[in-house]
Amino acid sequence: MISTLGVSQPRSVDLLPPTLQTIPEAIGKNIAIARARTRSRIMAVVKADGYGHGAVTVARAAIAAGAEWLGTTDIAEAPRLRAAGLTVPILTWLNPSGVDAEAAATGRVDIAVGSVGELEAVLEQTSPTALRVHLHMDTGMAREGCPVHEWDALIAAARQGERQGKVRVVGLMGHLPLADQADSEANAPAVSRMRQARRAVMAAGLDPPLTHLAATSGTLTDPATHFGMVRFGAGLAGIDPSETTELHGASRLTAPVVHSATVKAGTPVGYGGTYVTGTPTNLSVLPLGYADGIPREISPDASVEIHGRRHPVVGRVSMDQIVIDTGADLVPLGTTATVFGPQDGVTPTIRDWARWAGTIPHTLVTGIGPRVKRTVA
Ligand SMILES: *Cc1c(COP(=O)(O)O)cnc(C)c1O
Repeated sequence: MISTLGVSQPRSVDLLPPTLQTIPEAIGKNIAIARARTRSRIMAVVKADGYGHGAVTVARAAIAAGAEWLGTTDIAEAPRLRAAGLTVPILTWLNPSGVDAEAAATGRVDIAVGSVGELEAVLEQTSPTALRVHLHMDTGMAREGCPVHEWDALIAAARQGERQGKVRVVGLMGHLPLADQADSEANAPAVSRMRQARRAVMAAGLDPPLTHLAATSGTLTDPATHFGMVRFGAGLAGIDPSETTELHGASRLTAPVVHSATVKAGTPVGYGGTYVTGTPTNLSVLPLGYADGIPREISPDASVEIHGRRHPVVGRVSMDQIVIDTGADLVPLGTTATVFGPQDGVTPTIRDWARWAGTIPHTLVTGIGPRVKRTVA
C-alpha cells in the first residue's frame, strides 16, 4: 500500500508503537455513577480481560472506587486477580470444562451452577472446604442458567449438597435478556422469575444471602432489577448498552504516523482503489489494521484525530495499516493519531467507531489485537 502513495520517506525518528491506554480514573468515575444509581452491592465484571482494558487494572480501579465483588466468566481468569493481591469475593459463571472444587474453595472463588449436572460434577469431588455456589436460574435468556422446569431438581440437589457439607448456597443469580432496552416493563418478566426463584429456594429451606440479576443497563435504568447486587461490566469501560447515561470512556487507542505523502487528484488509495482522491491532498499511514481490531467494515465517515482535528480514514482497511486523508496538512512522521478515546468533542469515541462499523462498542474494545501495546494512564 505504501507504494500507492508514490513517495517514500526514511524512518529517521523513533516511533511510539500503537498503544491502548487504560484510564483508571474513568473507571472510578463510572463506578461512582453506578453507586449513585443503586444501594446494592456492585460486582465489577472483568471478563474478557476486563473488556480488553486489562482485568487487573480494571479490577483495581473499580475496587478502589467502591466495587465490592469481581466477576469473570471462566474460573481460569480468577488466579490472576488473586495473584495481583485482590481479595474481594470473585464469582465465575461459565465453566464448560468443569471446576476443581478444592482449588475454587481454597482460592475463595464462587461458582455459579446452572444445571444439576454441573452441581453433581462438584458434589462428586471431595474437598475439605465447602464450595460457595450461586444457583444460576434462567430468567428468560435460554442461553445460560437452569430452565424453570429443572429448578426443583437443582434446588433439591443443592440442598442435599449443603447437608453433606460440600457446598454452601450463597447466591441466586439471573441475567436480563433485554440489556439494550432501558425499560422496566421489558425487564418485568425476568424480575418476576427472579422473585419466583427466590421463593422456590426459600421454600426448600435454603436462604442464599445474595440475589443478583442486573448488568450495566439494569444498574443504570431500573432499580427493580438490583436486588442485593448488580453486575457492572460494560459500564466500567464507559459503555452504556441502554444509551441513557453519559459514562466515561476508559481507554485511548493511539498510533504514530509512519508515512506521509502529497498525492495528486485521481490517486487510488489502498486495495481495490475503492477511494480515489478528488483533489491534490496529503495522505498518512497508521500501522493499525484489521489484525489489530480496526473493523474492515467501516463506513466512509470513520475518522481519527490528529492535533485536535478529525481526518477521514480512506480506502480499505488493510491487515496492518489504514490510510488517513489529512487534506492540506502534510503530517510529520511520528505524529500521534488518536483512533478513539474519551469523549472530548473532537476525539472519536468507541461509540463512534461502533456506529461506523455497524457493531456495538463491546466488540471493538474486546477485539484490539495483541500487537497493540498496553499501558495504564
Ligand atoms: C457480561 C455479563 C455481565 C455484565 O454485563 P454488562 O452489560 O457488560 O455490564 C453480567 N452478568 C453476566 C452473566 C454476564 O455474562
